Amino acid sequence: MLYQSTRGNSPQQSFLEILLGGLAPDGGLYLPAQYPQIDREQLDSWRGLPYADLAYEILSLYCDDIPESELRALLRKTYTPMVYCNGRTEDNASDITPLHWLGDEGGTRLGLLSLSNGPTLAFKDMAMQLLGNLFEYALQRAGQELNILGATSGDTGSAAEYAMRGKQGVRVFMLSPQGKMSAFQSAQMYSLHDPNIFNLAVAGVFDDCQDIVKAVSNDLAFKAANRIGTVNSINWGRVVAQVVYYFQGYLLATKNSSERISFTVPSGNFGNICAGHIARMMGLPIEHLIVATNENDVLDEFFRSGVYRARKSAETLHTSSPSMDISKASNFERFVFDLLGRNGKNTAALFDQVEKAGGFDISKDIVFKEMSKYGFQSGSSTHQHRLQTIRDVYGRYGVMIDTHTADGVKVAREHLQKGIPMIVLETALPIKFEETIEEALGKPAECPPAFQDIKTRPQYVQKIAADVGQVKSYITTHLK
Ligand SMILES: *Cc1c(COP(=O)(O)O)cnc(C)c1O
Repeated sequence: MLYQSTRGNSPQQSFLEILLGGLAPDGGLYLPAQYPQIDREQLDSWRGLPYADLAYEILSLYCDDIPESELRALLRKTYTPMVYCNGRTEDNASDITPLHWLGDEGGTRLGLLSLSNGPTLAFKDMAMQLLGNLFEYALQRAGQELNILGATSGDTGSAAEYAMRGKQGVRVFMLSPQGKMSAFQSAQMYSLHDPNIFNLAVAGVFDDCQDIVKAVSNDLAFKAANRIGTVNSINWGRVVAQVVYYFQGYLLATKNSSERISFTVPSGNFGNICAGHIARMMGLPIEHLIVATNENDVLDEFFRSGVYRARKSAETLHTSSPSMDISKASNFERFVFDLLGRNGKNTAALFDQVEKAGGFDISKDIVFKEMSKYGFQSGSSTHQHRLQTIRDVYGRYGVMIDTHTADGVKVAREHLQKGIPMIVLETALPIKFEETIEEALGKPAECPPAFQDIKTRPQYVQKIAADVGQVKSYITTHLK
């Protein structure tokens, strides 16, 4: 399998060649040259496979430059009940991503696919844990090292640290805004004490952290000399790992592969739902893919109107589903490339307009008028909707959901179709956003036993000024 850039002007490369990098040289994102096709018979033959083996069936189609036995071993090491058992109350930990039916709403079965039982209690662990093992494997094979520099306001940073801790050949330098994360999130990150993990609390806000990362990455000489890399959400390895749980969700929700189901996905950077789009392009019988946003509704606006308008930082709202507070959706270009008939030149022209004019309008274009064949629908929600939905789902079904999942359930309910099961992807556990749970329910969020003492554990974090020079010298003095 070879990968091409969405802007059509970079050489095609193999999976391991693109794994450790970011954007393609022409500024585009990598996608496979074609989507492997899965027929119903093959799909039915995968029923009942353990998650790691289902992942093998799917990933072996995409990573054919890793020998089969090694890929299978990497997947079996990643997707174990040991890694994905946090917060699990049911006895089905071996499913890795169990499906939890809530009930019947107006003739439609509504369910949650649990994706947040990994070490940081959010769905990013599903892909990031695999990426940790893939990075270690690829670096060893190439005899290289990598120093990951990132900025986080919460989820991404901790998922990356928990994925890379203890991995050979990898160090993580993670910038976070001092005092701006929730107590639970800081405790999760700062309580790590592995020699290859460095937490830097920057005196500033998240944008300052991001600016420092950009400045360091733009210093090409420093970047090359110190082997600096990233693990941001445009990494293809993350997207492809996420394709697996759409198949697993489908197989758990259906009895045979003539049935169709829909998924609703709480969305920010379009990474999670992009994997759903790919699963559908591979032939998975998905009726609709429903994009659920919060008040930062860039994506909902596009799917309703054909107008894509990236927001300025000042227009980006801080909401109670903070992991979806985005100004532009960094993975969206992958879908646009398919929408434009995989025309790299036209894709490059549209994203050039995003750079220069802040967005584009394809509402009059034939490709937008014919977009329904991709199955997308969308909706958005507000803080009040989240509170109501958390209360309603708890009252009606006794299930506590987090604020992001609540955005999903609210929007899913607006798109129910009789006879077509609706699966909402559960993207985090409520304890991560406990302030809003308390506000909604008047009682504390449920906390998995393994996390009960997290806030009292010792924390390891270096305070640092919002200064590029100081961050650079911290990095160079900590490379041994
Ligand atoms: C990252 C994140 C999202 C958004 O996922 P995207 O891939 O950026 O669309 C939603 N919910 C939670 C809890 C997250 O951490």
